[in-house]
Amino acid sequence: MAMSAAVKTNADYPVPETMKAWVLKDPGELELVDKPVPEPKKAEVLVRIDAVAICATDLEIIYHGLPAIIEGGEPFNKNFTPGHEYMGTVVALGPGVDEYEIGERVTVEIHAGCGQCKRCREGMYTACHNYGKNYGDVDKGHRANGFTTDGGFCEYQVNNINTLVHVDDSMSDEEATLVVTAGTAMYGLTEVGGLVAGESVVVTGPGPIGLLGVAVAKALGAQPVILTGTRDNRLEIGRKLGADHVINVRNENAVEKVHELTGGKGADYVVECSGAPNSLNEAAQMLNRGGKICLAAFPSTSPEVDVAYLVRNNIYLYGIRGEGKTATHRAEAFMRQKRFDASLIHTHTFDMSDLIEAIRYAKDRVDDAIKVVVRNEHAVARREAAE
Ligand SMILES: [Zn+2]
Ligand SMILES: [Zn+2]
Repeated sequence: MAMSAAVKTNADYPVPETMKAWVLKDPGELELVDKPVPEPKKAEVLVRIDAVAICATDLEIIYHGLPAIIEGGEPFNKNFTPGHEYMGTVVALGPGVDEYEIGERVTVEIHAGCGQCKRCREGMYTACHNYGKNYGDVDKGHRANGFTTDGGFCEYQVNNINTLVHVDDSMSDEEATLVVTAGTAMYGLTEVGGLVAGESVVVTGPGPIGLLGVAVAKALGAQPVILTGTRDNRLEIGRKLGADHVINVRNENAVEKVHELTGGKGADYVVECSGAPNSLNEAAQMLNRGGKICLAAFPSTSPEVDVAYLVRNNIYLYGIRGEGKTATHRAEAFMRQKRFDASLIHTHTFDMSDLIEAIRYAKDRVDDAIKVVVRNEHAVARREAAE
């Protein structure tokens, strides 16, 4: 089926009718199939996917289902394509789209809200009240790539123009896949305090969001920036990204150490990225009175919380679901200015056809893998032609 006449294409970027796409079968099982290339509608473009980073949440979805919700239920055996941290090249414009050009490199945010609910109207599209209502007779137009609609482990995907971020030529494809991770860290810091210049920030958990949380906090002028974790090699990367102090919680009491490093007072903000069972209580104890905690991790259990401590100390709690409030644009601006080197967390690259092996590296942290990126062959061929 060819694209309808209202869709703009360009002979320099030919769009095939079908593509290779990974789909989720039973838990933990992916299969490479042929799918039709989707057609961009109003306010959408078609992105040729060049590179995709694998996220811990992809692993959660592939093995356990949630937080993906497809057609109101679990995502297995529904011809669903996961993957949400992707970048690529615009190859077709939906009717009326003039905000982007064919051939432009873009990276994408995950969430396009419905645009009509209370939260979307406030700019909080990650908390859209019509979350996942994008099918059958309840189609509200909400999309979350790789969560409620098809994602990026394929060759082409449609995206609402509101989810696109222009990628500067100075940024590699791999680095561009990390913009949304930096954007999530940026959103977390925006929610707790906006500009955090001169304030103390603790980041707990040196995963990708935690490490870029350190980088963004430092770039925003936080002082000191403290990172806690259990792996020395990751803490060392945290130092390179701007941590003034790192604490290995296997060797030191993190709560005591944070107080020591903040003149006995405790920190102003904690960005909790570990998801460890007692992390919320420890985060509260790291703070000074009136401090704020941003929760950015999905713990696998429902931990006990010392609520009275939060009340007595006037602690504020914020949960964030990924990026929001166009924080990815601000993150991209930092990365374009080389305010930090996000590529320090990119450790491995595989071809899209080797996705299963790439997922094994990400899941088992083979060879100290942090961010594993898969690339489509067309992108590799183009890069080689340029060299
Ligand atoms: Zn992610
Ligand atoms: Zn909405």
